[in-house]
Amino acid sequence: MQALQPPVHPAGGCAGLIAGKRRSPLLRRRSIPADSFEFLVQGSEAEPYRVAFRFEDRNCTATCTCRAGQVGQACKHRLGIIWGVVDGLVSDNADDLVAVRERLPDTDVWDRIERLRDAEEDLADAKARVSVAKKALARAMRD
Ligand SMILES: [Zn+2]
Repeated sequence: MQALQPPVHPAGGCAGLIAGKRRSPLLRRRSIPADSFEFLVQGSEAEPYRVAFRFEDRNCTATCTCRAGQVGQACKHRLGIIWGVVDGLVSDNADDLVAVRERLPDTDVWDRIERLRDAEEDLADAKARVSVAKKALARAMRD
């Protein structure tokens, strides 16, 4: 999975922000207007799931109507939007995916996103080491 990079220009063309106006680091924590985005994502059920991201100040709330989302798990639909890899988007608002991803680095969930990304990278590295170790063991057992 490609690493999620913080966008260089978080205000660029994003709904609810003043386009072209860069925020200085001192103003990063200022109040920004609430923004809500909703996506319809076709999953395994007949009805598409409703995946919603709401931003208010530094708070990000994200919900999904899928079974995992209903029980409070970080479902693949919300993670797909966070990572920028969405399968089955059926709503006509792909541009909003970019807007959501641009907003995330300024929110309270960003450090958890980075932690998850780091853990996923560690897991991928561990899987690669296991594969190499298994091949080495297989070679050693042949003779
Ligand atoms: Zn979901």
